[in-house]
Amino acid sequence: MSIAGGIDKAILRGDELSCTAVQIFLKNNTRWEGKPISEKERSDFFANQKKTGLNHIVAHNCYLINLASPDETIFKKSMRAMSDELTRASFLQIPSLIIHPGAHKGMGTRHGINQIAGALNALFKEDIKGKVKILLETTAGQGTGIGSRFEDLAQIISDIKRPARVGVCLDTSHIFAAGYDIRTKKDYESTLKEFDSIIGIKKLCAIHLNDSKKPLGSRLDRYENIGKGSIGLDAFRFIMNDERFAEIPKIIETPKEPEPQADLENLRILKSLVESIS
Ligand SMILES: [Zn+2]
Repeated sequence: MSIAGGIDKAILRGDELSCTAVQIFLKNNTRWEGKPISEKERSDFFANQKKTGLNHIVAHNCYLINLASPDETIFKKSMRAMSDELTRASFLQIPSLIIHPGAHKGMGTRHGINQIAGALNALFKEDIKGKVKILLETTAGQGTGIGSRFEDLAQIISDIKRPARVGVCLDTSHIFAAGYDIRTKKDYESTLKEFDSIIGIKKLCAIHLNDSKKPLGSRLDRYENIGKGSIGLDAFRFIMNDERFAEIPKIIETPKEPEPQADLENLRILKSLVESIS
């Protein structure tokens, strides 16, 4: 949800569409710096949560951040920006911050993984009393992006000194583009079994529900409306009815236009997939 006019407004926008979970940026996501969140914005944010009962809030970090960058200037900026993101999330008592692990830009996956783990360890050390969990998002494997294999995320997590502070956000479109099929019940179960054996299902703290414009294994990151892409409806039915994920925030990042009809239609379709319990 857009935070135009103040972060507190995102809650009202979500409530208008009957959302039960909302994902927000903590500042303008195309800039390195942002003005601090005011006390007033924070109290309005809490008041709007109370008023609407909308309490499943997750944050997503700024797109410029790359914790695997070999460029020292970019890396330093990324660390400063991540520290600021954690401060903002904590100020708003948002429990989790979703991040794209990073792109190694030619240095290799192993190097990138080490750098990301080191960066997260440094951030957690600096923010020792903090509670905000960082959720590493599964990626499509576009370019030199890290996180398209469950093994990559498992390796980062195993190198973290405070494992309780990291989790995973599974993006349906990204894993599909990365080659994990979820279109049939059999493939869905085997992909999740793989996730569980490599990362652990308990680490799954959020789900991005997006269909994919591109085919299985394309390694291209292009979102499509639910049921209109290469994944199709069944995979979303499996997730929406999977008891293991009942309490996990599920977020759509599907094309927004036209607003708000596109969001409303994607949400309507997802809710229609929920089978009533007899
Ligand atoms: Zn996503």
